[in-house]
Amino acid sequence: TELDPIIDRLVRPIADWPEPGVTFRDITPLLGDPVAYDAVIDGLVTLAQAAGPVDAVLGIEARGFLFGPSIALRLGVGFVPVRKAGKLPSESLSTSYDLEYGSATMEMHVDAVTAGSRVLVVDDVLATGGTLLAAADLVSQAGATVAGNLVLIELLALGGRARLGDTGCGTLRTY
Ligand code: 5GP
Repeated sequence: TELDPIIDRLVRPIADWPEPGVTFRDITPLLGDPVAYDAVIDGLVTLAQAAGPVDAVLGIEARGFLFGPSIALRLGVGFVPVRKAGKLPSESLSTSYDLEYGSATMEMHVDAVTAGSRVLVVDDVLATGGTLLAAADLVSQAGATVAGNLVLIELLALGGRARLGDTGCGTLRTY
């Protein structure tokens, strides 16, 4: 898209972080540029609108929180945080998923999503897809449906899109 040059300039690859062999895409320079940040939100909102109406936007801790709420406000729907275990104060649904080493647990308030509703799941990066699949499990436990997934960046080599199946994932930039 026309956002490619902005993302290429303001998302920097960090070699060998958080461990040797991994190249981490660091979005913090983008956050510091209000014109670019706004343009990226616009691009994500356009992708979201193309996927059809949703009842809520769900963002994944931590970097999904940097994009999800702005998208929700522009779509005129509420925002739902999905958090790491033990952070949410009220009764929560829980799901565990495998990481490269060990596993992680994510939670969502039981009353955050209405049964039967359609939600859009937002994160910064799609890698293996495990995180978005875990969010989809929480949505399904709540009796709701994932209308779509949305990320800034998709790392093609990690094959996440294939794991997401029919739900698919809107993305602004692939590497
Ligand atoms: P996955 O579950 O798809 O393997 O990994 C995606 C999750 O890990 C997202 O929540 C994302 O924030 C984080 N992540 C993995 N790789 C990167 C990366 O290179 N840059 C950033 N910013 N986040 C990453």
